[in-house]
Amino acid sequence: MNIHQASCSCGQLTLRAGGEPVRVSICHCRDCQRRSGSAFAVQARFPAGNVTVEGQSTPYVRAGDKGRIARFFFCPACGTTVFFRLDADPDHVAVALGTLDDPARLPPRSPCSASGSITGSGSRPISSSTTEQLLQRLGQ
Ligand SMILES: [Zn+2]
Ligand SMILES: [Zn+2]
Repeated sequence: MNIHQASCSCGQLTLRAGGEPVRVSICHCRDCQRRSGSAFAVQARFPAGNVTVEGQSTPYVRAGDKGRIARFFFCPACGTTVFFRLDADPDHVAVALGTLDDPARLPPRSPCSASGSITGSGSRPISSSTTEQLLQRLGQ
C-alpha cells in the first residue's frame, strides 16, 4: 500500500495516510484563504481508518453558515494546519496537500464551487476560470 507522509513546518506533528485519497480538491472560499494564507487551499481526503497522526495538534473549530462544522488541526509550535475533519463526514480525514512530502503525486481533480466549499459557507469565490487555470498548472 502507498504511504503518504505529511508534516508541519517544524516537524513535530506528522501524519501518515495509506492508500490513495478518495478526492483531491481545491477550495478558494474566503475562509480557506484565511486559513492557508494563500489564494486557495488544496486538500486530499483519505479514509479515516488509513490515517495515523503523531505529535501534538490543536483543534480550531469553524462553522459554515449552514451549520456544518469543520475541525482544523494545527501544530501548536509552528501553526501549520496539517489536517482537518468535517463533522458531516466522519469517515474521512482531509490532509492539507502542501504538508505532504510529495504533493506533486496528488494533483487536484475537483475544483469546488462556492456552494461546495468546505463548510458550505458560500463565501465569495474567485472566478471559476481562475480555478481552471490553477488546476491546469497544478495538474502538470
Ligand atoms: Zn510544527
Ligand atoms: Zn473553503
